[in-house]
Amino acid sequence: MYRMRLWSARNAAWLGALYNVWENILIRLHPLFARIGYERLDNLFLSIEKPIKGFLFDSRSCGQCTLNITGMSCPMNCPKTMRNGPCGGVRPDGACEVKPDMPCVWVVARDGNRRMNKNEHTIELVLPPVDARLQGTSAWMRKVREHNSHPELESLR
Ligand code: SF4
Repeated sequence: MYRMRLWSARNAAWLGALYNVWENILIRLHPLFARIGYERLDNLFLSIEKPIKGFLFDSRSCGQCTLNITGMSCPMNCPKTMRNGPCGGVRPDGACEVKPDMPCVWVVARDGNRRMNKNEHTIELVLPPVDARLQGTSAWMRKVREHNSHPELESLR
């Protein structure tokens, strides 16, 4: 929902903290998830994740969530799906070039990132292109699997 999306970025500080707590709980449950099987759990978690993130962030369930480093502003809402900062068309008032009635998602992301009191550089991490094969999968489950495969990368976030 569009209004909720802007509200979420304005409330990025506590939403981000809550998100981190939830993520840490899931990471600790890795032994259990591994025993059950991630493939079996994906649809279950997606059925919870999709409506929550859809309502709060207008999430498109790309399966590669960046909310934690983009100030709780989902880059998939950019009409050009820019993943690494704004295009060159941001209007002087911060509005989107393609949809002038909405603020650029990256302007919102920068504000949200500041509210999260994060190292400013996190938003400047270069993200890989969207992998269409992950569309409609649980980003939560992917995060837990990634953490357990490459825990050293977590210090960058
Ligand atoms: S102005 Fe911002 S939201 Fe609009 S297309 Fe460019 S990067 Fe995307």
